[in-house]
Amino acid sequence: MLDKVVIANRGEIALRILRACKELGIKTVAAYSEADRDLKHVFLSDESVCIGPASSTDSYLNVPAVISAAEVTDAVGIHPGYGFLSENADFAERVEQSGFVFIGPKAETIRLMGDKVSAINAMKKAGIPCVPGSDGPLGEDPETLKKTAKRIGYPIIIKASGGGGGRGMRVVHSEANLLKSVSLTRTEAGVTFGNDMIYMEKFLEHPRHIEIQILADEHGNVIYLGERDCSMQRRHQKVIEEAPAPGLDEETRKKIGERCVEACKKISYRGAGTFEFLYQDGEFYFIEMNTRVQVEHPVTEMITGVDIVKEQLRIASGLPLSYKQEDIKITGHAIECRLNAEDPDNFMPSPGTIDHYHPPGGFGIRVDTHVYQGYKVPPHYDSMIGKLIAHAETRDLALTRMSMALTEIVIDGIKTNIPLHRKLVKDANFITGGTDIHYLEAKLGIK
Ligand code: ADP
Repeated sequence: MLDKVVIANRGEIALRILRACKELGIKTVAAYSEADRDLKHVFLSDESVCIGPASSTDSYLNVPAVISAAEVTDAVGIHPGYGFLSENADFAERVEQSGFVFIGPKAETIRLMGDKVSAINAMKKAGIPCVPGSDGPLGEDPETLKKTAKRIGYPIIIKASGGGGGRGMRVVHSEANLLKSVSLTRTEAGVTFGNDMIYMEKFLEHPRHIEIQILADEHGNVIYLGERDCSMQRRHQKVIEEAPAPGLDEETRKKIGERCVEACKKISYRGAGTFEFLYQDGEFYFIEMNTRVQVEHPVTEMITGVDIVKEQLRIASGLPLSYKQEDIKITGHAIECRLNAEDPDNFMPSPGTIDHYHPPGGFGIRVDTHVYQGYKVPPHYDSMIGKLIAHAETRDLALTRMSMALTEIVIDGIKTNIPLHRKLVKDANFITGGTDIHYLEAKLGIK
């Protein structure tokens, strides 16, 4: 087992990684920014190193600073969490070249999957169903662009190959807007992601977002941990996630899960990973693979009993997976609400001090958060301040538990999206289950 790990992240995921390390007897080093001295995992870690100023470019995204944190503390591995450097292939490579273990896939796999055009090509080859599209990057020739869009059929979506975080996408409904949209998306992709490669896909009008969690070790063992439904989205960002996906039967789960396992074997995947699909009219369409632990991993943990972060640490230590496919049994249903420090009406970030904090509790409730009473949410980072997870033997009971937890929880001093969640868990269509990715925005009156 790895002896000492640098946690190269912040917030709830840093605390989540710290807890997994402690259970495995791994020593921890918190690498934190000047704005994050008061984070809970900084207090709880064995050692801590300040890696730079508040701005993430100078701290959490500063490759030499993160690697030095491992050097000065004699750590063995670096866990990147999600976001920041977690899907940066150059970082993974530099970590390994510097003699440390990157807790994640090999750099070449991250590179392959980080570029969506190459990821889609690789997945197609590996037998994964993909969205009908341009089969490669878009060129400049207007006539070819028009022909490609016509062949796919409007509406289409233009996407940045290096995109992420729900940005860099533009839907086009007719040829009249095609060329302008292509050039706008290309320019934006260049500015935002430093890579102006774009591609085109059929825009699916009523899909659900369903993703498959996999784990793969260095010994060729690969398993799938069922699926998550993350269709409740705003601006392509997940708001509520659940597992299993309402209405998905065991046969369908097994079929798509096994395909993902096969694909992982073909690309010699290592670590935790997620295949993201759009699911419409009973068909799966691959959109991308995330080569890291995801925000929504707890819902899978609750229904399978598998600690995904501990498995990541085991895999990085060169150990075999603790489970075989036949050990994985789905028990009950889990729902996660992402708690954000933001105005529930206009979604503007709301940093500041938390004056009162009362966490909810009870059977089947899990709260993954770094906040506490008196904690000051800094303005420099993502607005997510935690995740509320409810698990029960049925979806109905999980919803009831979530609803109770949302009533019990108190976070005062800043604005949060808790009022929005309270409304959503009472929404008749969400209660029925199986709403599509456009449902939340339609409900919120967003076009
Ligand atoms: P990112 O890497 O930015 O998260 P994804 O490719 O995973 O981008 O897409 C994020 C979300 O955007 C999806 O969950 C879905 O809501 C929407 N989306 C992406 N591709 C399509 C498509 N072809 N049709 C409809 N919606 C799409």
